[in-house]
Amino acid sequence: MAYVVERKPLSLSERLYIPQVLAGMKTTLKHFFAPNVTMEYPEQRPAIPPGYRGVPTLVKDPNGREKCVSCQLCEFVCPPKAIRITPGEIPPDAANAHVEKGPKAFDIDMLRCIYCGLCQEVCPEEAIWLQNQYSMSGYTREEMVNNKERLYELGGTLPDQHFKWDKKKAAEQRGNAHH
Ligand code: SF4
Ligand code: SF4
Repeated sequence: MAYVVERKPLSLSERLYIPQVLAGMKTTLKHFFAPNVTMEYPEQRPAIPPGYRGVPTLVKDPNGREKCVSCQLCEFVCPPKAIRITPGEIPPDAANAHVEKGPKAFDIDMLRCIYCGLCQEVCPEEAIWLQNQYSMSGYTREEMVNNKERLYELGGTLPDQHFKWDKKKAAEQRGNAHH
């Protein structure tokens, strides 16, 4: 059986609405004279907390060498398929030629990227990092695809504790080519 809820009758002040209008005007006036707290972006930018996950970037090791070995794990794991990698061979005269391959092309489509950070998590070389760059815009779809050059420009060099290439080179010089 339906239960009827009696509507409470409005008081005189509620029927007049004037107290509610005055309360609204008081709130408006309070904000009108309060100091302006709006940040004038992009001239002013907020402080980005450590560990913030912004735009994915590629980074080089402290010797300026590419860390990415083009294993394509990040491309495989990326949920929206935002990463496209074309693997390439490292030139025989390169300092790290004895090690592995590198990316010939590396594109990240920022119209697809959901900033999940899985690419960073899965990368065995710590070559791809979501850093504090969060603002990206463009007039065309093509402009929103970050190619390899742009990814390195955004990424720069991060402190690297591993010095993998140096260790491998030293091992090779000691006669252990498979270190
Ligand atoms: S952050 Fe996520 S969505 Fe963006 S490129 Fe990396 S894996 Fe793909
Ligand atoms: S960025 Fe990392 S996971 Fe992606 S291809 Fe390069 S080495 Fe592999």
